[in-house]
Amino acid sequence: MRGRLRSGKKRRIGSAAREARFKFLADATTALVSSLDFETTLEAVAKLAVPMLADGCVIDLVDGDDLRRVVCVHRDPELQAYSVELKALGPPANDAPVRHFIAANTPTLIPKFTDAHVVAAARDARHLAILRALHMESTMILPLRARGRTIGILWLYSSDAERLYGERDLALAEDLGGRIGLAIDNARLFQEAQEAVRIRDEFLAIASHELRTPLTPLKLQLGRLLRQTTDASTHEKLVLADGQVDRLTRLITQLLDVSRIASGRLVLDPEPVDLAEVVRREAEHASMEARKKGSELRIHANAPVVGVWDAARLEQVVANLLSNAIKYGDGKPVDVDVSTREGVAYLDVRDHGIGIPTEHQTRIFERYERAVSARHFGGFGLGLWIVRQIVEASSGSIRVESVDGEGSRFIVGLPLVAGLRGKSGGIVEDA
Ligand code: ADP
Repeated sequence: MRGRLRSGKKRRIGSAAREARFKFLADATTALVSSLDFETTLEAVAKLAVPMLADGCVIDLVDGDDLRRVVCVHRDPELQAYSVELKALGPPANDAPVRHFIAANTPTLIPKFTDAHVVAAARDARHLAILRALHMESTMILPLRARGRTIGILWLYSSDAERLYGERDLALAEDLGGRIGLAIDNARLFQEAQEAVRIRDEFLAIASHELRTPLTPLKLQLGRLLRQTTDASTHEKLVLADGQVDRLTRLITQLLDVSRIASGRLVLDPEPVDLAEVVRREAEHASMEARKKGSELRIHANAPVVGVWDAARLEQVVANLLSNAIKYGDGKPVDVDVSTREGVAYLDVRDHGIGIPTEHQTRIFERYERAVSARHFGGFGLGLWIVRQIVEASSGSIRVESVDGEGSRFIVGLPLVAGLRGKSGGIVEDA
């Protein structure tokens, strides 16, 4: 830690040695990218560094204002117990040379680590005994860097008086340190991203719950006023307000569903339901919106199609597909068909609107994915994702056929009883 001693003349490296170094770095890189749990990964890499590059390896990571010891290994099983103790002791707290090293950000080579070095490094008698037992003969200390900051320290030491480190070893160790720094940074960024997503989902769950609460009494009040009013103009305005409350409820429900589904809390409550009836009812609900857009809703759902599904979730599937067909339907007619074949119910929703370019037809079923600009069409990009989750949880499937600029057709296939599929297995393929 103290002096920055460098020694060793540059010698030509033989091709076998060069190959061994490449292989070592390749193996280390493979180990480093194999997991995003960096503590497990660092153990694996340390076990590669020992014995290839060192007899002992210690990795300390910067954790706020402190250092945290995450790895401490020794090649000699008899000395491993001391390594374990060294790990438990941890890095020195608030140690000036360590702070200096972190700030300086420079690799350090101490070719001959003398007893004077050991004494200077020891914190107390027990620490001194451990360091002496580990026979540190030669040491390299590397900063682990990520995005310009030192995020940890890699200590490599030899316990063999015949194996004293030189510049070539330092170069290899620096290369290893660079890769470790990158891997730690990636793993941390991944953890931070996951944490941010968790916080977002938690917030969405709370916010959507809070937002939904006042909507129920508001909807009730509007319904009461609608029944009481005799004035045509007031009635029309109340109908509009009621439609907006429905729209708000649908958006908030989508937000609530994201966190529910993402955390695996989509619970279905199957019961006998008539899909044809659900479609007729949802078409009635959507009729105002369709009229506003100038779209005619043509419903072909006269015969009952009874299956065992979650009624509320089925309504959501139908409502979402209808509302999209109207929203993106360019004021043209929307056709909805309900049919059944070989134990599978089919819901077929066709519009003649803007259509979906082929390259977007898969991703629109993913969360927050949209094929239109937010400036032209409002929405969260959640409806189709939720529809797909519900359909798949009901053992069904959904697909889209669309020609850009000519309209879209969404076909849902649902086994009448979950688990019972049509002959082909891929049920919507049959429609
Ligand atoms: P949202 O409509 O809120 O954006 P959805 O998940 O329901 O979210 O739809 C995802 C995207 O799929 C939409 O943004 C739109 O680009 C596209 N889409 C869905 N339905 C249709 C449709 N009937 N016609 C054209 N595009 C559609």
